Amino acid sequence: MLLSTTRVSVHQLRRYATTAVPKDKDHYHLVVVGGGAGGLSIAAKFTEVLTTLDKGKVVVIEPNEMHYYQPMWTLVGAGIKTVAQSGRPMASVMPRQVKWIRDRCVSIEPDHNRVRLSGANGVLSYDFLVVAVGIHIDWNRVKGLTDALKTPGVCSNYSVETVTKTLPAIEGIKEGNAIFTFPNTAIKCAGAPQKIMYLADAYWRQHGIRDKINITYNTALGVIFGVPKYAKALNKIVDQKNINVNYRHNLVEVVADKKEAVFEDLASNERKRFKYDMLHVTPPMSAPPLVSSLADPQSGGYMSVNKETLQHVKYENIFGIGDCTNAPTSKTAAAVAAQTGVVSRNLLAVMKGKKPYAHYDGYTSCPLVTGNNKCILAEFDYNLEPLETFPIDQSKESRLMYYMKKDLMPNMYWNGLLKGIWNGPQFYRRIMHLGMGK
Ligand SMILES: Cc1cc2nc3c(=O)[nH]c(=O)nc-3n(C[C@H](O)[C@H](O)[C@H](O)COP(=O)(O)OP(=O)(O)OC[C@H]3O[C@@H](n4cnc5c(N)ncnc54)[C@H](O)[C@@H]3O)c2cc1C
Repeated sequence: MLLSTTRVSVHQLRRYATTAVPKDKDHYHLVVVGGGAGGLSIAAKFTEVLTTLDKGKVVVIEPNEMHYYQPMWTLVGAGIKTVAQSGRPMASVMPRQVKWIRDRCVSIEPDHNRVRLSGANGVLSYDFLVVAVGIHIDWNRVKGLTDALKTPGVCSNYSVETVTKTLPAIEGIKEGNAIFTFPNTAIKCAGAPQKIMYLADAYWRQHGIRDKINITYNTALGVIFGVPKYAKALNKIVDQKNINVNYRHNLVEVVADKKEAVFEDLASNERKRFKYDMLHVTPPMSAPPLVSSLADPQSGGYMSVNKETLQHVKYENIFGIGDCTNAPTSKTAAAVAAQTGVVSRNLLAVMKGKKPYAHYDGYTSCPLVTGNNKCILAEFDYNLEPLETFPIDQSKESRLMYYMKKDLMPNMYWNGLLKGIWNGPQFYRRIMHLGMGK
C-alpha cells in the first residue's frame, strides 16, 4: 500500500529507471499489463492509431491464449450466442507491432519502474506503464459455491468455464424456484445479474411453464439499479413479470446437497435459507492483489487514479484503465471505451513532457436486456446522470437497442475498441443532440 501521497515526476522516475534497469533487452518504452479490453485498446492506440511506436517498444503482458468478449456471456447463458462466438485467439487480436509476452505479472514495483513476471521472463523495466488487469472474482468467498457450481442447476455467466452451465440450468427446470443473485461488492457490469433473469423468464414463458416457476432476485443492493431513471423502469418490469425482489440479501453459502442457498439479510444480520431448483450466482469480486502497490488506503485495494485523467495519483508515468482502478463508475467495457481516448491522449502528453489534459466524465453504459428482443440502454456518468446517445427516452424497452446489443456491439468491440479506434459514443451523442448537452 502507498503510504505517502508525494507525487513522483516522470523525470525522477526516469532517473530511478536508469539506475534500476536490469538489462537493455528487458526495457520497454511502454509496458501494458493485461491484454483484455483496456490493455489491447491502449496497445493499439500506441502502435497503430495515435503513435506508431516501433515493434519492441510496446509490450503487453497477458497469460491467456484466448481473449473473450465478456459482454456476450449474457447472451451465451441464454442460448442466443455460443461461447465460441465470444472468444478469439489472443494472437489474432494482439496489435501487430506489439510484443506479446505470454506470462503473468506477479508484482509491480513503481518506485523502480519495473514489473516482475512469473516465468522465465523475470523482470521488465519501463518508461511508462498502463495497468489493465480487470477485476478479481472471489468464488471462494461464498462457502460451498465452487463445489455447487459442479452440480446441475447452479450456474454463473461470470466465467468462461461456468457460462456454459447456464442454458442447461434454464432448460433443466420445469417447476420450482429459480434464484438470481447480486453480491455485496463492486462487480463488473452491474446489470448482468438481472439481464439473465429476464432472458430466463422469457424462455419459460415461451415454453408455457412460467407459472410453475417462482423467480426470486436476491440482491445485496438496496435498489434494483443505481441510476434512478432506469431503476424506475426496471421496478415496473419486475412487477409486470411477477418477480420477487429481496433487497439487502447477500449470498453467503450454497448447500448443494440440500439445494439451499443461504443469504445474509444485511438489514437484520439474520441468515435466511432459500430452496432452489435453479441458482444463477453473480460472485463477489475485488481488486486484483497485483495492484496493491498502486492502491492507497481510500481506494479499497483498487489502483488509485485521478478520476478525471486516469493517471496514477502518485506516479506520473503510470495510468490505469478499466475494472482494476478506483474510478468511481460502473465497471464495463463501455466505460473502457470512453477511458481509452482519455488515457491515450494523457499518456502521450506525459510522454512529451506535458501535463495530462483530457478528462473522463465517468461515462459507462449497460444494455439491460429485459426479454427476447427488448433492451433498455442505460448510459450515465459519475453523477449517475443519464448520458444518452440517442434523442429518445432510453429507459423505454426497445427492439432497436436489443439488436444493437446483440449484433452491433460485438462488432464495435472487435473492430473498434480492440483496434484503438472506438472511444465511446460521445461524438455521436453530440451530433444526435444537435451539439447540445454533454
Ligand atoms: C457476464 C458479463 C456481462 C457483461 N456485460 C457487459 C455489457 O453488457 N456491457 C459492457 O460494456 N460490459 C459488460 N461486461 C463487463 C466487461 O466485460 C468488463 O468491464 C471489461 O472487460 C473490462 O475490461 P478490462 O480490460 O478492465 O478487464 P478484462 O477485459 O477483464 O481484462 C483483464 C485482462 O488482464 C489479464 N490479467 C489479469 N491478471 C493479470 C496478471 N497478473 N498479469 C497479466 N495479465 C493479467 C486477464 O487475463 C485479462 O485478459 C460484462 C462482463 C461479464 C462477465
